[in-house]
Amino acid sequence: MNVRDSEVVEAQLQGQGLQPASGVEDADVVVINTCSVRDKAEQKLYSDLGRLKHWKQNGRRVVVAGCVAQQERDAITKRMPWVDLVLGTHQVRELPKHLETVARSGERVIATEWKHSDPVARLGRPDTVLPRRRASVFVTIQEGCDNVCTFCVVPFTRGREVSRPLDAVVEEVREHVDRGAREIVLLGQNVNSWGAKFDAFPSFAELLYRVHEVPGVDRIRFTSPHPKDYTEDLATAYRELPNLCPSAHLPLQAGSDRVLAAMRRGYTGARYLEIVAMLREARPDIHFSTDIIVGFPGELREDFEATLDIVREVRFAQIYAFVFSPRPMTPALRMDDPVPMADKKAWLQELFALQQTIQAEDHQEWVGRSVDVLWTD
Ligand code: SF4
Repeated sequence: MNVRDSEVVEAQLQGQGLQPASGVEDADVVVINTCSVRDKAEQKLYSDLGRLKHWKQNGRRVVVAGCVAQQERDAITKRMPWVDLVLGTHQVRELPKHLETVARSGERVIATEWKHSDPVARLGRPDTVLPRRRASVFVTIQEGCDNVCTFCVVPFTRGREVSRPLDAVVEEVREHVDRGAREIVLLGQNVNSWGAKFDAFPSFAELLYRVHEVPGVDRIRFTSPHPKDYTEDLATAYRELPNLCPSAHLPLQAGSDRVLAAMRRGYTGARYLEIVAMLREARPDIHFSTDIIVGFPGELREDFEATLDIVREVRFAQIYAFVFSPRPMTPALRMDDPVPMADKKAWLQELFALQQTIQAEDHQEWVGRSVDVLWTD
């Protein structure tokens, strides 16, 4: 999602006649698009902004956009007075307007208001924000999250779920294909809950069928989904749509039911494995990737073992795993966390070692095979 937001920033600035600079020294405007899922990225923002303090002179502009801008607006404003524009997550598509205000007034602009009412306006029409021509393109279909995972700051930085109307999605897909795209990656914080809370919307599976019908769409993928929204009709879509890639991201987060309940993930380890089985039955060549948090507050060794058990059983093609990072405003921030950091780091290495073994074994099945690949920049 952040990559797509950066594309929107780039497209808008180029629409204003600006060109990408070869480096910071050659730039007139620096836009730092931020992620707040873990603390490390947030700290990096502050060190980057510190370096820009002396760079900023002679009309140069510094913009902080995205989730940290939304979440840390007051801190950025106070600690970094040389930032010209703080651009919240719902304001990214208003960048030219706000930059113009900065240029005209010479004053700093803080733009972090939510825009809940009009999903189409908020998610943008294709003609204003198309990225560079490329073989694989992101199409935003949904933003925000109505779930309440106790570790996650996204609902606070991205707001409530909105879904983009079906016709607007299909129209943008057609436009990308006309410009040479071969692969469509549907994007959303909770992509497979697209439309679920709007009565007039069809199901996410139906959306996949409609995108699949567009002539020239050779591959469809989507990210990032929630396991609970892998419905039976979505499994059927995997069975029936040859151009829907046989891959599914299925964020596990933890294998222990006790930890999953504390995370408020809405499924158990057993239910997760049922979803895996349902998708494998529909599409036997499917491969899974996942996200795992190691060392959630109160997680014990036996809980972590349950995560390892699921990793062994599913044999993920790829995992994205991190030590738990407490985030502001989240319930997990206030949970007791007696497990020493050294243990958490050791568990993470254990998980990586297991995954490496699984991947090395499973990669053998590809040796000697010829497959089509999509070459993208
Ligand atoms: S579903 Fe995903 S985005 Fe939503 S709160 Fe949970 S982890 Fe965060």
